[in-house]
Amino acid sequence: MKYKRILLKLSGEALMGEKNYGIDSKRLEQYAQEIRRVKDLGVEIAIVIGGGNIFRGVQAENAGIDRVQGDYMGMLATLINAMALQSALEQGGMYTRLMSGIKVESVCEPFIRRRAIRHLEKGRIVIFGAGIGNPYFTTDSTAALRAIEIEADVVLKGTRVDGVYTADPEKDKSATKYSSLSYQEAYEKNLNIMDMTAFTLCQENNLPIIVFDMNKPGNLDKIVIGEDIGTLITSN
Ligand code: UDP
Repeated sequence: MKYKRILLKLSGEALMGEKNYGIDSKRLEQYAQEIRRVKDLGVEIAIVIGGGNIFRGVQAENAGIDRVQGDYMGMLATLINAMALQSALEQGGMYTRLMSGIKVESVCEPFIRRRAIRHLEKGRIVIFGAGIGNPYFTTDSTAALRAIEIEADVVLKGTRVDGVYTADPEKDKSATKYSSLSYQEAYEKNLNIMDMTAFTLCQENNLPIIVFDMNKPGNLDKIVIGEDIGTLITSN
């Protein structure tokens, strides 16, 4: 096994599947199956999930809601997704814990680093909801920070494209895929893999990132056993 403890980042939008808003139960079930396969390999799994399918802080300003309030709304949106994912994982026979960046005592535990690590050691899948718990951050930054805190081996950023391209492959047909990149190159070429806060955290702490297609069955377990899937971003 190449990676023993992973942090999987899923965007909220990924959960929409074919829908325009909200959560697609088929997609959720599909992700639960993918995660189950990795779990069965004995890998410790933490997950950060976004909220973009429900609400983003930046949208709030258009609706006359101030940014900070909007960001908290966005964090709560990630919790809704996290709860849906938790259910899907449990239905798939996995043990889970949901830990929140803001206190929502009736629903889940607060994030406590040592506790999160203990859950992982016991084989529970830990989902981090509500981001870091502070406005002006994103769930990408949450993924980077939590991965460092729990000493994950890698951040796996699941997307709907199969890696990082020289240009947007959905718009530019001549775009080619990188199989690997250094943080420096990604920064100089402005490849927008994650926001700068997230990216800098990974770089400064030497935490590898893999961008890959989460919708392709089998990709996640191939990555974990060390196959070259997606784009790997490291220091060299
Ligand atoms: N958010 C925040 N602090 C955090 C994480 C998230 O304020 O630590 C808010 C922010 O408004 C963001 C929203 O939650 O727009 C949803 O998260 P994100 O946009 O990262 O979700 P994704 O794009 O991955 O679906």
